Amino acid sequence: MTADIGVTGLAVMGANLARNLARNGYTVALHNRSVAKTDALLEAHGEEGRFVRTETLAELVQALERPRRVLVMVKAGAPVDAVIEELVPLLDEGDIIIDGGNSFFEETRRREESLRGEGIHFVGVGVSGGEEGALNGPSIMPGGSQESYESLGPMLERIAADFHGEPCCAWIGTDGAGHYVKMVHNGIEYADMQVIGEAYDLMRSVAGLEPAAQAEVFREWNTTDLASYLIEITSEVLEQEDEITGRPLVDVIVDAAGQKGTGRWTAISALEVGSPVTAIAESVFARSISSQQQLRSQTTQVFSSGIDEHAPTPDYGPEFVEDVRKALYASKLVAYAQGLDMLVAAGEEFGWDLDLRSIASLWRAGCIIRADLLDTIMKAYDVPASRRPQNLLLAQDFTEAINECLPAWRRVVAAAATQGVPAPVFSSSLAYYDGLRRDRLPAALTQGLRDYFGAHTYRRIDQEGTFHTLWSADRSEVQQ
Ligand code: NDP
Repeated sequence: MTADIGVTGLAVMGANLARNLARNGYTVALHNRSVAKTDALLEAHGEEGRFVRTETLAELVQALERPRRVLVMVKAGAPVDAVIEELVPLLDEGDIIIDGGNSFFEETRRREESLRGEGIHFVGVGVSGGEEGALNGPSIMPGGSQESYESLGPMLERIAADFHGEPCCAWIGTDGAGHYVKMVHNGIEYADMQVIGEAYDLMRSVAGLEPAAQAEVFREWNTTDLASYLIEITSEVLEQEDEITGRPLVDVIVDAAGQKGTGRWTAISALEVGSPVTAIAESVFARSISSQQQLRSQTTQVFSSGIDEHAPTPDYGPEFVEDVRKALYASKLVAYAQGLDMLVAAGEEFGWDLDLRSIASLWRAGCIIRADLLDTIMKAYDVPASRRPQNLLLAQDFTEAINECLPAWRRVVAAAATQGVPAPVFSSSLAYYDGLRRDRLPAALTQGLRDYFGAHTYRRIDQEGTFHTLWSADRSEVQQ
């Protein structure tokens, strides 16, 4: 029996993608470095479809129809290179290696370029949705050559999440574009979770709303513009009681957020392409601060914790809760606007013609950031190219929503500051909005200072050219 596709790396993600492929009618050849995983998969789920058991990569390749498609689902990093090195001599021109792991996009670009020289298509595929998504339908973001998508696309679209009949899978762009978009998706996910956390903290610390009561609030919010998977599961986490202590589970979980690195990669890449993704970067930093537990404990002793006792104590009731909802929504809009801006900047840097409407459509099912807001984003781009907004905040729906939320957003950020509750994404998103909105920024002074100490020159508002003031001489201005 020849197989339609081979999967090597049968830990949780590879195994579930293999099962998803088999359940959708494909014959799947299976391989794992240690054969025990292959056998365990066959024993537990062999009845779900047509599988071909192989013990070596050579056997895996032999089992495949041409052009061969090999899905690599091993640990990201050096193991991917090790598998590629072993695979390449076994493959022929036109065959396709697919990396569905969380590889760094620069590595995908390097691998694609080197394999292109050998006539082999290397496709970096962003897969979102965790193990459950891998099994039942993930959001899939494939990069690589357009030619490889002709052979691979139908298969990926078949196993992808389905959003009202549309597959959450479409070709993103050449080489590392798929992994890049998946990385930014993860960055947005960081920001999405951080704004939820800030809303929770403010409602708890300022308005005194206990987790069980907040579960109801989030449930209610899930019927508004905020409707999303993350808001939905927030109410479930908040209403969970700890079996041992009977306290809210959230109170017995150590408050140090982990990270696997994709948020950090997004922030680093944003700095490199010059895109101000403040919401994502602040979310990464917020996780870092949460993990500095020893320092936090020392600082708590020195500065005292909790609400600033000198702050005025207005009545924070239901109106404040509604204000927080609006601050959360506005900050979320900024996070998405920044993430998509970053994709435009990266597209220019790396030569990808990214279709932002299509990308937003892929995130509507199967992935963690699925949300009603994505429809609004698609609508913003659903216009002739000449009318597409340069930044999502300029799309009519976004502009109206920001204007609607703005007074509440400012009140919440002010309350956070006066009450001593950190709200880094609420605050920095508001600063981003204000930064874009201001007709004059203090960057003029920055330029003056740079010219003073480093002769870095400046431009004038009333004349073409670059200028320098002779600060250490007679302070006259010279044109450069
Ligand atoms: P792991 O990242 O834990 O990797 C384990 C697999 O890699 C095993 O099959 C292991 O084989 C294999 N492996 C490790 N080193 C080598 C090597 N040198 N040569 C050959 N095989 C090797 O598996 P996961 O299923 O958790 O993740 C797979 C990929 O998917 C990763 O890139 C991960 O980051 C990504 N991922 C994505 C998620 C998502 O939501 N999209 C969620 C989780 C993961 P052996 O059994 O022999 O040790």
